[in-house]
Amino acid sequence: MRPLKITNSDLYHILIRSAAAYALCAVVSMVFLVTTYRSYQGNVRERQPAMIERARELVDEKIGDLERLLAETGRNLTAISEDNAAAYRTILDFTKRTGEFETVVYISDGRMYADSAGENTDVLTQRIEEIQEAESGKVHSMENVQEEGDIFLLFPMHITKENGQEGTLAAIYDCSRMTSGGMFEELHTQSACWIIENEGKILSYRAYDALDIAQVASNNFYMQMYDLTEGSRNSKSQVQQMRHAAKDEPMQSLEVKGEKSHTCLIMLCRLEKMEGYSIATVTDMTVQSMFIYRFIRKMLLMLGLLFLLSVIAVFFVWHYVRSVTAKMEAIAYTDDVTKWKNINYFHKEAINILQNHEETPYIIQRFDISNFRYLNEAYGHLRADDILKSCVDIYQKVYSSKELCVRMDSDQFVTLTVNDNDVNERREQYMKQVNEHAVANGITYPIRMKYGIYQLRKQDRDIDVMIDRANAARRSLNGNEVESVAYYTDAIMRNMSKVNKIESEMRQALDNGEFQVYLQAKWDIVNNHVAGAEALVRWIRPEGNMVFPDEFIPVFEKNGFIGELDFYMLESVCKKLRSVLDAGGVIYPVSVNQSRVLLHSPEYITRVRTLLDTCQIPKEYIELEVTETALFDDRDRMISVLKAMKKEGIKLSMDDFGSGYSSLNTLKDMPFDVLKIDREFFSEAVTSDSSTLILHKIIEMADGLGMEVICEGVENEQQVDLLRSIGCKRVQGYYYAKPVPAEKYIQSYCEIGQIAKGAS
Ligand code: C2E
Ligand code: MG
Ligand code: MG
Repeated sequence: MRPLKITNSDLYHILIRSAAAYALCAVVSMVFLVTTYRSYQGNVRERQPAMIERARELVDEKIGDLERLLAETGRNLTAISEDNAAAYRTILDFTKRTGEFETVVYISDGRMYADSAGENTDVLTQRIEEIQEAESGKVHSMENVQEEGDIFLLFPMHITKENGQEGTLAAIYDCSRMTSGGMFEELHTQSACWIIENEGKILSYRAYDALDIAQVASNNFYMQMYDLTEGSRNSKSQVQQMRHAAKDEPMQSLEVKGEKSHTCLIMLCRLEKMEGYSIATVTDMTVQSMFIYRFIRKMLLMLGLLFLLSVIAVFFVWHYVRSVTAKMEAIAYTDDVTKWKNINYFHKEAINILQNHEETPYIIQRFDISNFRYLNEAYGHLRADDILKSCVDIYQKVYSSKELCVRMDSDQFVTLTVNDNDVNERREQYMKQVNEHAVANGITYPIRMKYGIYQLRKQDRDIDVMIDRANAARRSLNGNEVESVAYYTDAIMRNMSKVNKIESEMRQALDNGEFQVYLQAKWDIVNNHVAGAEALVRWIRPEGNMVFPDEFIPVFEKNGFIGELDFYMLESVCKKLRSVLDAGGVIYPVSVNQSRVLLHSPEYITRVRTLLDTCQIPKEYIELEVTETALFDDRDRMISVLKAMKKEGIKLSMDDFGSGYSSLNTLKDMPFDVLKIDREFFSEAVTSDSSTLILHKIIEMADGLGMEVICEGVENEQQVDLLRSIGCKRVQGYYYAKPVPAEKYIQSYCEIGQIAKGAS
């Protein structure tokens, strides 16, 4: 299992990448800002001359209109008699109302002869002389003496009446109405606007909010521009040049550095109808781009903030994942029973240790506790678990920190141990301490370990393979208690590959019918005729080689395939008996070996019953053999299965009696019909009197319990005589018959006229 983990370098990478992403965003924003800013300034430069020109046209148009109106008024006045003052006033009034003039007056003989209704008549009354001397038909500027700062445009017109009398018609127009009115509306969208005299005197001004020009500081436009360019000497001199050039150039523009280094565009456009006057504008191009600045600034700020938040989030997630990982690791790497590390940890840590100690020779040890099942039953789970725990605890005391021991499962352990000169001594020491611990806890049963050892080689990489090899060595131990350590050897490797080959081929072999039934006849030595047979499996390879059961049965018992094979054998036997019966032959009971795997299967009894029913084989013709060693597995369950089969009327025999540890006592609880004495046990019995006596008593007792006895492995006449003399009635062995293919057995014993031929 690869644990979820964020390392410091992962974190570093996340931060670098997000910083790079944010920097990219910032650069893109900056580029966007600069290009937008430039294009915006270009835009302003382009539009401003056209706008100022339009304003000039409007102003000139306005002046023209006012002049025409005044001329019209003049013409009207010439016909009216001098003493008809009321008529004068009416005409002047009318002109005022239509022409937006503040006041229209008629001066004659140095006095105000008539005036329109209006507030500013006084402005003119005080300047009669000045008005009379003013050039007729030319627009003048005139300060409002009553209100400082206010400037009027004065339109004087000298007229000669029909009667030859001369006078002056004059009108004033409030100049501020020009800049504040619609004529400057467009200009004002981006600029501050003025109407100025050539020398810079300001007639009218319309401020622009974003442009900080102190209009009060001076009533001269150029002075104000000097103020504006105060910070830059160069800009100031440019304004001076502009001032001089203004007399000759109808339109001028100048870009200067204004306050706070803002770029300001100053433009002048001479008015045609108002000789000596111009429109002036100042546009702060930097301020105009300010909204983009502000937008980008906000964006950058947000990016910065987001980056900060991301950093915080990454740190938070990192911290969280680390704490979760630590918890997960604790769960994933802890063994429930020993509360120490488990095999997952071993996988991970063993690699680290080996990498860090490349020059150190190591071995992998796989060990288990012999008869741990007994410890469990005799001392209870808690105390047995304590032994398991002590195995890892004591390992840590006896071995160094560059060595490792974990429990794999049940009573199985694996260690990574330094293969030094003391390795055997340390192992002894370790086992001694585990035993001392057990005794201290009241466990007097000796704790023995069976060790399989694999010596690591330089090229070894896969921990699983190393553990498997150590395990193969452990399994090679034959149960001899004196021998507790086995090293992995080439022979074990060969055996492993043999096992692998068997396992890879077994399924197809079963499907191909390579497993065949051989039958070995059993003999009735009292009446000297065949008494039945035992079915024994043979694996006939496609090339014709025969493989004996001791090569593959142990493999199948370990991997569970034996269940399938045993039932297949039972099925084959039933079919063969059926075919003999169908052919009108004679059949004898056949015993079939059944493994413990099969007996543990819950539907086993039903399957046997169904098979016998389907093949219509009377139950007394089938006998099931269970090996004595199978009885050690879950004794109670075994008794209940055997009893259930017995109830079904199936005959049961205990195979290989005397090869294991079962006592005669076992027999009283187990409902066996037949006791098969193991070949080894029997061959010993015939060599000594005491053994013969034991065998005799077993036969007697079995007889007493109502069980048949059959001795396996009878090979000569002397054995037959002895068995007959101690009351054994049936035997199985080469002396009478060897296992032969089922067909041959049927030919020999089952066909009509072939019954009981006698020993061959
Ligand atoms: P087993 O059930 O005790 O079978 C008797 C074994 O003793 C057979 O070996 C048989 O050939 C051998 N034998 C019989 N008479 C003599 C004799 O006079 N001298 C000698 N030296 N041997 C004799 P086999 O066929 O090699 O089978 C070995 C074991 O394999 C069997 O012992 C049985 O435990 C197991 N086995 C065989 N077939 C099956 C099967 O189909 N299923 C299961 N579960 N086990 C089987
Ligand atoms: Mg048998
Ligand atoms: Mg046997």
